[in-house]
Amino acid sequence: MNGPFFLPVHDIARKPGEMREHNFSVPLKEKWGEGIVVVEAGETVDLEVRLESVHEGILVSGTVESDYIGQCGRCLTDISAPVEVEIQELFAYPGQEETDFEVQDDHVDLETLVRDAVVLSLPFQPVCQPDCLGLDPKTGEKLTESTGTESVAPIDPRWSALQQITDQVGAAESRTAEKEES
Ligand SMILES: [Zn+2]
Repeated sequence: MNGPFFLPVHDIARKPGEMREHNFSVPLKEKWGEGIVVVEAGETVDLEVRLESVHEGILVSGTVESDYIGQCGRCLTDISAPVEVEIQELFAYPGQEETDFEVQDDHVDLETLVRDAVVLSLPFQPVCQPDCLGLDPKTGEKLTESTGTESVAPIDPRWSALQQITDQVGAAESRTAEKEES
């Protein structure tokens, strides 16, 4: 018994009907995932796990929560978000059914099960917000408004004169609109 995701089963093994619940947290020694978002080393993985003794082995089910970090796939802004995933898997006794997971002596090791579930649940195309407009293909700046009239990014001085005109026109238009409404 010396892995961070090991859980003891000696008290319930081969006693169908017995059940144990474990709530625990594991700080990761290495990052999980290879995509543009990952669960970083040092991040904590929180687990709420139920172990049920069944005839074939130990049925493991529960919830895993952590946080991922990375970059928006459109605008490259740093992002972080929670990840929550359900797990359920039978750890069979050795020599029993063909399964990916086996009860090992007096414990089950959840690491591969939990890591694979978390990594698979990470977004393949993460975005900072659902309607992220990405980067302007010409300037490389992040697009904030589809109209472009309310850009909060610093304006290139060569464009500032034009921006003033645009603002004046915009103000005039809004005054006109107000008049028409009243
Ligand atoms: Zn974005």
